[in-house]
Amino acid sequence: MTRFNTQLVHGLPVDDNNTGAVNPPIYNSSTYAFESVDAMPRWDYARSGNPTREFLEKQIAQLEHGTRGFAFGSGLAAIHAVLSIFQPGDRIVAGDNVYGGSYSQLNEHFNRWGLLVDSVDTRNLEDVERAVAGDTAQGRLPAKAVYFETITNPLLKVNDVHAIAEIAHRYGAVVIVDNTFVTPYLQNPLDLGADIVLHSATKYLAGHSDVIAGLVVVKDDELAQRVYFAQNRLGGVLAPNECDSVRRGIQTLALRLERQQENAIAVAEYLLGHPLVKAVYYPGLTDGEDLAAKGLRGGGGVLSFEVIDGVDPADVLDNLKLFRLAVSLGAVESLAELPCRMTHFELPREERLKVGITDELIRLSIGIEDAHDLTEDLEQAFRHAEHADSAVRDDALAESVLI
Ligand code: PLP
Repeated sequence: MTRFNTQLVHGLPVDDNNTGAVNPPIYNSSTYAFESVDAMPRWDYARSGNPTREFLEKQIAQLEHGTRGFAFGSGLAAIHAVLSIFQPGDRIVAGDNVYGGSYSQLNEHFNRWGLLVDSVDTRNLEDVERAVAGDTAQGRLPAKAVYFETITNPLLKVNDVHAIAEIAHRYGAVVIVDNTFVTPYLQNPLDLGADIVLHSATKYLAGHSDVIAGLVVVKDDELAQRVYFAQNRLGGVLAPNECDSVRRGIQTLALRLERQQENAIAVAEYLLGHPLVKAVYYPGLTDGEDLAAKGLRGGGGVLSFEVIDGVDPADVLDNLKLFRLAVSLGAVESLAELPCRMTHFELPREERLKVGITDELIRLSIGIEDAHDLTEDLEQAFRHAEHADSAVRDDALAESVLI
């Protein structure tokens, strides 16, 4: 069997109708002809399945070590389909600092359809166990699922998939992991005990800020049937052209992530030494053994930092020239954003502050540019901010800490 980096490029044989094309064709057909009324054709209608989507679904199933993959029109459509396999009255335990849109889908959509959602800090295993177990005497049955992100957004806290899965399975709960920030290049949650892994493929997998997509991989046939039902009946499938964009992005995943991680380390080290920076959140600077113990092969390409009191984070962000001020992450170009106003505005302020997403927190998604250009861009933006915020007091200048 070929190794991971080769699988990214050549994972599946290309069957191109004998033209010799090295890439799989894009089948832009919504419907497929039957040979006769009695025929049972492999393809009949493209929502139910089509060859271009199947190629991508098999590609991600192979890379995530699962039995079957599913492609959706967005990461949130993927999460919607996965959570739709549950029933009204089922209780889901969710990480307390998941992506704002996922939080909103759970708490503003699925709760209206009868799912009960409990939020916990998934790094605290005692809290996870208490939440999953429920309290049968009080009528709170054990949770049906635990939902969390491998590395949380935007504080980059590392969750221990293996330990959480071990607890969840004792109570019969399905373990659902959003692996968007990490990708199968850096971790395979199914190998660590998860049952379902999902991605906003919009991010690292597609990698070029040119497509919105979601992917799901399940570990067994029973879950595959339930997710397939949701995919086909809710209908949020990914169109053939977009499937091909994600397929192509995946081929260069390893190269991009290697450079993004190298650059992220350089930027994190630069920020740690900057007097206007109070704290840096990046797991890639800690001892590799820490990450390895949690099944991670690297810290990824996203990091966050807080500016010191008296500096308006907007004065840093509005003066960046190379970093684009934009939500999203995982693409070849570097992006910067203010979570409290942009990606995490859905969270009520008290909830945000409780989990540590302060008004001063800036998130960076590091691209594949030259690292020197990135740190120079930050340097000139800090100079502007220092000038604009004349209230910056000398006593606020402090040693940054790595969190
Ligand atoms: N999961 C995570 C961790 C995300 O960051 C995002 C989007 O930012 C999503 C899911 C939702 O994905 P999409 O925007 O593709 O719907």
